[in-house]
Amino acid sequence: MTDYVALDGTTRPLPDPDAGAAVLADDRAHVFHSWSAQAALAPVPVAGGSGATFWDYDGKSYLDFSSQLVNLNLGHQHPDLIAAIHRQADRLATIQPSMANDVRGILAREIVEVAGESFSKVFFTNGGVDANEYAVRLARHTTGRAKVLATYRSYHGGMGTPIALTGDPRRWANETQGHVVHFFGPYPYRSAFHSSTPEEETARALEHLESVIVLEGAATIAAIILETIVGTNGILVPPPGYLAGVRELCDRYGIVLIADEVMAGFGRAGEWFAFQGFGIVPDLVTFAKGVNSGYVPLGGVVISDAIAHAFDDRVFFGGLTYSGHPLGCAVGVATFEVFRRDGILEHVRDLGERVVGPRLASWLETHPSVGEVRGRGLFWAVELVRDRETREPLVPYNAAGAANAPMTAFASACKAGGVWPFTHFNRTHICPPLVISEDELNRGLDVIDEALTTTDQLMGA
Ligand code: PLP
Repeated sequence: MTDYVALDGTTRPLPDPDAGAAVLADDRAHVFHSWSAQAALAPVPVAGGSGATFWDYDGKSYLDFSSQLVNLNLGHQHPDLIAAIHRQADRLATIQPSMANDVRGILAREIVEVAGESFSKVFFTNGGVDANEYAVRLARHTTGRAKVLATYRSYHGGMGTPIALTGDPRRWANETQGHVVHFFGPYPYRSAFHSSTPEEETARALEHLESVIVLEGAATIAAIILETIVGTNGILVPPPGYLAGVRELCDRYGIVLIADEVMAGFGRAGEWFAFQGFGIVPDLVTFAKGVNSGYVPLGGVVISDAIAHAFDDRVFFGGLTYSGHPLGCAVGVATFEVFRRDGILEHVRDLGERVVGPRLASWLETHPSVGEVRGRGLFWAVELVRDRETREPLVPYNAAGAANAPMTAFASACKAGGVWPFTHFNRTHICPPLVISEDELNRGLDVIDEALTTTDQLMGA
């Protein structure tokens, strides 16, 4: 393949469909994919990426409005992150976790400093699921209790305790763990409590949670885990006072509060950690994805001073060969440098408030199939309905195949227009890389705006 310089200044290989076909052939023959029946899969062979864009071997490029799996916060091939990998590979490619390592220590310090003064340590993992597994273990070992409460409409990871905690259909085939109880979190648009205002939703959701705590036996509950802003299951921004109320219940009943910030953290919602936008402080915070944009797998648990000190003289029974892998940590350190130098948090808040929020709100006027829009930062949901009055979802919960055809058609229209959308059930989420320019963002929103005409046609159908 020879290279050419594209309109946006990036160097790209000339299209090479034969190479794309070879990539696809190996994939289809030998790669076993996540969360899928294998036979009908047709993954896009990706030839490269830059910033908010990636492209295939046919020369078709996409604005990445899902940041891959909402992990690519600093975009594709960020030069500073790539340089950090090269530098660290030359210095020390790996070292086991019981030894002290400079980038591991620097990253832990940086994370603790931005998390706030009540935190003192970080336990590093390979990703989000093990971060949640270990957060729960820390809570169980410090409280001596077993049970964990989690919300319906949540995702905490694909195996072990986190898949049992997950409140979406991915749990159904994997329910082998005990000591997990689900409760309803707030969701004003589809209130489980028949609330008519956000304030009512907060009060009723807290009353419900307290009932669950009492009925389950407060003294049996180690932790409550929740996504500060629920991600995949709908960008559910908690209504005013809800998280403060959960914090208060945890304090009253001696329960550890775990904030899962695997998706919402590291700038996605315009703060280092999303909990900082709600004036509360959890006991444990789990992170992964945006900590280094997934360039090297890395996650972890930020641990409060009190819980960290509980293990000063007693053994923490847990560990991973690659805990605090230097390559991953070096990219994490570079991530902090880029965030500060380039004002990423300010950029995200500005684009969220000035561009995405108003544009999505305008779709409530122009697209009858848009039932609600919500979010903050570069973390937004557009909820699609068949009927605005009844709020009947455009497709049923967990729809697949023909039942999901309207969402498939919507996604195809986005892709044809050059946007790679995030879709889940009856929603599309707007979660591009945090480095996206205003121009790229507007271009992508134009494509989605146009694609929504396909869903409008189904109104009342
Ligand atoms: N928690 C949340 C909120 C997530 O969104 C995810 C992944 O999407 C996870 C945990 C699991 O992270 P991982 O896939 O890195 O194990």
